[in-house]
This record gives sequence, C-alpha cells and structure tokens, in this order.
Amino acid sequence: MNRIHNFSAGPSALPLPVLEQAAAEFVDFRGHGSSLLEMSHRGKVYDDVHNECVADLSTLLGLGDDHVVFFMGGGARTQFALVPTNLRAAGTAGFITTGHWATGACSEARKLGSVTELWTSAEHGHDRTPGPSDVAIPQDLAYLHYTSNNTIYGTQTAQPPLTGDVPLVCDMSSDILSAPVDVARYGLIYAGAQKNLGPAGVTLLILRKDLLARSGEGLPGMWSYSKVAGKNSMLNTPPVYAIYLVGLVAKHMLATGGASGAQQRNARKAAMLYGAIDADDFYAGHAQPGSRSTMNVTFRTPSADLDAAFAAAATKEGLSGLKGHRVVGGLRASIYNSVLESSVEALVSFMKEFSRTRG
Ligand code: PMP
Repeated sequence: MNRIHNFSAGPSALPLPVLEQAAAEFVDFRGHGSSLLEMSHRGKVYDDVHNECVADLSTLLGLGDDHVVFFMGGGARTQFALVPTNLRAAGTAGFITTGHWATGACSEARKLGSVTELWTSAEHGHDRTPGPSDVAIPQDLAYLHYTSNNTIYGTQTAQPPLTGDVPLVCDMSSDILSAPVDVARYGLIYAGAQKNLGPAGVTLLILRKDLLARSGEGLPGMWSYSKVAGKNSMLNTPPVYAIYLVGLVAKHMLATGGASGAQQRNARKAAMLYGAIDADDFYAGHAQPGSRSTMNVTFRTPSADLDAAFAAAATKEGLSGLKGHRVVGGLRASIYNSVLESSVEALVSFMKEFSRTRG
C-alpha cells in the first residue's frame, strides 16, 4: 500500500504499527474467538483493555493521585457545555478566546450562565496567544478556560496562564501529549481523541479530584463528571473500540520515548516547516512567530488562486489535507504526533518546487 502523506487537521494520521495491530486483532481479538466489537464492555477482556489504556495514559501524563482520567462521548464540543454544567456552580467562568474553538466554548458557556471574556486575539485575526501573565484573572472566577492549541489559526500557547487559586481548564484537543504536560497545574484538561490520541468518538478528560464535588447531585447522570468518573467511564456503554485504539496509540507512544520523544520529533518537524516558510518570500505564515503552533502550520501563497493550485498539485503528489479551514483560507499543514518527519520533508521539497515554478 502506498500511504499518503497525511496533513489532515483531524481525524488525522495514526501510527502505522497501531493500524497494523488493530487489523491483525480485528476479527479474532487476541484468541478470544470474537472481535472486540462483539464483546460486552462488562467482561474481563474489555475491562483489561480499558484499564490498561487508563494506566498507560496516566503514565504518559505523569499523573499523580490528585487527578482522575476518564472518557466521554460527544466530542470535545460536548465539553463546551459540560464544563460549565459541572464546574461553574453559581459563579462566573472566565475565557481566553484565541480562535474558533475557544470562542465556541465561550459562547456555549454563555448560553448556560455567567461568562467573562478576559482576553481575545479576535482583532488580530487570531494570530497570537497571550503570555502566562498577560491576562489578569479575577480570583472569584469559578474557573478559567483556554484552548492550548488553535487548530484552525495555527497558534499555540507556550505557557499556560497563571491563574492563582482559580482552577485552570484547558481544551487540549489539538496538542494533547505533543509534549510533556504539567498536569498538576490544571483543574481540568479535555481533548477529543482524533488528532494526537486515536480515532474520533471519544474524549479524554483529566480532572482534579476535588472538583468532582462541583458536579451537582441533580445533574443527569450522563452529564455528570462525578457520576461518569465514579463508574470508571462505564456509567453507560463506552466507545469500546475507540478506547482500545487510544490504548494502542498510548502503548506506541510509551515505546517511542513518551511525551518528550514526541516533543523532540514535533519540534524538528515544526522547525523544518516554519524554516521553509521563512526562507521564501513566496510564503507567509499566519501566526506571529512567538505564538506558532507545533501542530498546525498555517500559511499562504501570494493569492487565493495559488493557494488552491498548491493544494490541488500537492494532492496529486500524495500530500493530502493541506487546504486551510474555510474560516481563514490559505493553507494548513497539520503535523500531529503521528505525522512522520519524512512526510514533512516531502512537503518542504514540494513547497520549494512549487515556489520555483509558480513564484
Ligand atoms: N476544540 C479544538 C481545539 C478542536 O480542534 C476541535 C475540532 N477540530 C474541537 C474542539 C471540536 O472537537 P469535536 O469535533 O471532537 O467536537
């Protein structure tokens, strides 16, 4: 099989060894005479898969006793509503809006109660993120929400905001485990799996245990962090196959240097790509240099027509998924954990050739 160079923003590339293992185990799961898809989530076989996934993610995240890991369905977007539902109580939630998803999280929370927008990059076309001390955080907030990596605009927050005693909540959907994360600083981290962790269909949550008490007793069970985490994500039937695949990705990460191994590879990939943009006047990056994402590299050629021609010609060369998101246009190369350095090398060669022949 001739695998494409996959620069899709998500769902996106998965490690080939993970796909091969999943294929080998698909029909007869580890000699049990049925597919994992056909087994009860209450049985021992799935239970082991589930608990191993939780244990491996905990190792990768360097989790201590203060936090609990659990899974929910509904994508990251469901969390835009469930975070305020569980964590705000009667207070006000603070937001840093650095892009499309951050703004979406803020507006969903506003439908459900009191919100204050403390910092936005909207007037700069979302080309930047704040430094850790750039945002004044009122100490009576219920929590502060930010988005660590802005998938569409290609910006990333290098250091999380300093929030004092206010719990820090982060949508880490597009850069979770792209580098080691100091989980102790967070009240809640959530991430849809379909970029760095596995397939769509499952969202990872890492919650500081003292915040479990904020989920009101009257909440419907499936909305309640306390109820879902209290049942080890099995209050209902969890997305078993997605969790199994996240487990395989976690094992693959552990075998390839963990989060710091990923960080080193990601830094090399991003340096290659931003280097190619900076070296050639034909290309212009969208993000301010200090806010550049290591996961989504956004750039453009001198015109929208050339952007379209670039994406079309790249696809013909096996370089897929480079069209920018419709809200910003231009081009975007998503270079998540599982995108190989050789794919980025191929893209850089293509960029040089395109600029030479079309510039
Ligand atoms: N947050 C971020 C940062 C995202 O990139 C995305 C999806 N691209 C979402 C939230 C929404 O995720 P989902 O489609 O899983 O609801």
